[in-house]
Amino acid sequence: MNWKKNDTIQIEITDMSDTGEGIGKTDGFTWFVKDAVIGDVVEASVMKMKKSYGFARLQKVLNPSSARVTPLCAVARQCGGCQLQAVSYEEQLRFKENKVRNNLRRIGGFENPPFYPIIGMEHPWRYRNKAQFPFGKNRDGQIIAGFYAARTHAIIEHDDCLLGAEENAKILECIKTYMNQYHITPYDEMTHTGLIRHALIRKGFSTGELMVCLVINGSVNDLKNSNKLVEMLTALYPGTTGRMEQYGAEETPDRCDPRNKPVPEMTSISVNINREQTNVIMGSDVVHLYGPGYITDYIGNICYRISPLSFYQVNPVQTERLYETALEYADLTGTETVWDLYCGIGTISLFLAQKAKKVYGVEIIPQAIEDARANAALNGIDNVKFFVGKAEEVLPEQYEKNHIYADVIVVDPPRKGCDKVCLDTILKMAPQRVVYVSCDSATLARDLKYLCGEAYTLEKVQTVDMFGNSCHVESIVKLVRKNNRKCKPDSYVKLRLDMEDYYRIKDEEK
Ligand code: SAH
Repeated sequence: MNWKKNDTIQIEITDMSDTGEGIGKTDGFTWFVKDAVIGDVVEASVMKMKKSYGFARLQKVLNPSSARVTPLCAVARQCGGCQLQAVSYEEQLRFKENKVRNNLRRIGGFENPPFYPIIGMEHPWRYRNKAQFPFGKNRDGQIIAGFYAARTHAIIEHDDCLLGAEENAKILECIKTYMNQYHITPYDEMTHTGLIRHALIRKGFSTGELMVCLVINGSVNDLKNSNKLVEMLTALYPGTTGRMEQYGAEETPDRCDPRNKPVPEMTSISVNINREQTNVIMGSDVVHLYGPGYITDYIGNICYRISPLSFYQVNPVQTERLYETALEYADLTGTETVWDLYCGIGTISLFLAQKAKKVYGVEIIPQAIEDARANAALNGIDNVKFFVGKAEEVLPEQYEKNHIYADVIVVDPPRKGCDKVCLDTILKMAPQRVVYVSCDSATLARDLKYLCGEAYTLEKVQTVDMFGNSCHVESIVKLVRKNNRKCKPDSYVKLRLDMEDYYRIKDEEK
């Protein structure tokens, strides 16, 4: 068929793309329709045509799918954050599990991977402990904060994202008031002028501790009357800073008990310097204006300190379930040497250290390793050692030079997956088990294919919904070394040492 731009088409949506767009066909031609839900029959207008597929804009839902629900958020369609708000949560979970299954099949070549039912959230709202709001001006010149619209850098004004903490709205209001009072300008991407780029807000859900970090295009001196900002923010949520540090791990409040919902308190206020013309939100320098420079939070009975630049999982409730699964898959008895690659602030490392002989963590961001070391001390855990550096450099170096081996290796890489050198080193080290935690099932499938070849069996795949209402999904898998594998470098090293002993004894005998 020869469709033209703005033609109206009628389609039944029979599938959903990885990024949550509805997929349907007319005469064998595939259409992607954003905001259409699987099972809908819709009217859409043609936007763009390629050879074998096209994009169309949803105009009218003619026959709604049984999986269609009314989004709770007023800007759900414009905002780029929640691609699945119009899809029932049950269907979202099915979609996510299928996405991982398909990638494992198509990219990884695993025909029937051993899947366990997805771990969904009890309440897929207000679960995010971190939000980054860009600042700008609306058409009337007023300062606004909000979110970027999908695939653009236009700011949709919105102070109260329903995935984030309730405190965010009040904090943003306070920052805007301060900016208006002291004539502080928001950043303008087009002209690279103006000061305030983003506000990063984090909350320790189990401690109530709040962090505000303003990302600015300038030096801290450009932030005039910053003491007033501190005054205003601390007045909003007063309290003593670093409260949780005074607690021992045993005193962790029972977070399931609503009476123990912690009182929010402003714990850390800082400024991050980012003068670059870039999409990257944070620069590398942080100047602390108030508090200890970090907030603390608990996952299970381990306390973590979190700095503005450190990675920390955004959904602490589901993270606990993820880490418990990691611990289960690592199958530790107390005698194992474990590597935790891409360890961030040592979250998984410290979880594993409770049951391992020794844990080595590797992470590229120095501040995160500072946090990791502090976290180990904070929890009285001393069987961990952290390295700053790239996993693909530190692991081979430690293995080859210092002969540190591994019974279990846990990896939790960013979206691009593991570097090939890292995978090759894992194969050389031949640990009994590999636990792979992944936020991108396509690169997961690629890496699993590489690892599984001759050496490992894919024993378990578990998906965990950490990002309700968005199309992202976390997976965790367990690989077990095949017994018949010929070359086992760890036993090979041992064998070589045995032989050296043998020759030494022989020499001594002579
Ligand atoms: N396991 C941690 C963090 C996972 S996110 C947790 O659950 O909290 C991935 C981490 O990998 C980030 O902290 C990122 O800074 C780090 N990272 C990215 N590339 C890396 C590399 N090549 N080597 C080591 N760490 C890397």
